[in-house]
Amino acid sequence: MEIACNVIRQAPLIAELVNLATAQSRGGAPVQPPQGDELTEAFAANVSASQREALQAAADAGDRLGELAAQLRAALVAASPADTAAAINAMIRRYGAQPYLVEDVGQPFHLHFHGSERDPVDALGGEFAAALALIVDGYGAGRFGRCEASRCDAVYVDLTRNGSRRFCSAPCTARAKTAAYRARRGGESVS
Ligand SMILES: [Zn+2]
Repeated sequence: MEIACNVIRQAPLIAELVNLATAQSRGGAPVQPPQGDELTEAFAANVSASQREALQAAADAGDRLGELAAQLRAALVAASPADTAAAINAMIRRYGAQPYLVEDVGQPFHLHFHGSERDPVDALGGEFAAALALIVDGYGAGRFGRCEASRCDAVYVDLTRNGSRRFCSAPCTARAKTAAYRARRGGESVS
C-alpha cells in the first residue's frame, strides 16, 4: 500500500507534539515540558505561517494541544494493537475526522482529514488521528513506540521501509550504539 503524502507530512509533527508536551526526558537529559501558551509557541514553530497564526489566535490552544498530545501518546505507546486501535478510534470520534479532497496550489487533489470543527486544534486532532489510522491500516500497529535509548521517553512514528526503528532520533541511536558497544567491551555501565 502506498501511504498518502499527507500522512508522511503529519508523522513527524505528531511525534514532535507528543515529545514537546509529554516527554520528561529526551536524548539522555531531563526536560521540562512547556504548557499553555509556551506549548503553543513551541509547537507552532513546526507548522506553516497560516497554521501558526490560527493556533496563536485560538482560545486555550496550549491546554488543548496538551490534551491532544496525551491522547496521541496513549495511542503510540499502547500495550497491544487493540489498545492502539481503540485509542485512535476514540480520537477520530472526538475530533470528528472526515476525509475530503483538497486541491492546494501546485498540487493535485489529495485527502485531508480536518476535524469537523473549524478550530485549528480540533483540525490537527482530526488530521493526526486519521494519519495514525492510515499508518496502522497500511503497515500494522507496530510502527509506533517509545525510544529505547537510556533516559529518553520520546516517541517515534516509523515510516521506514522495513519498520526497524527503535529510537526517537539520530543522537539517541548513536548513544544506544555506544552503550551497547561499551557493554560488549567490558560490561561497565554507560550513559
Ligand atoms: Zn530518544
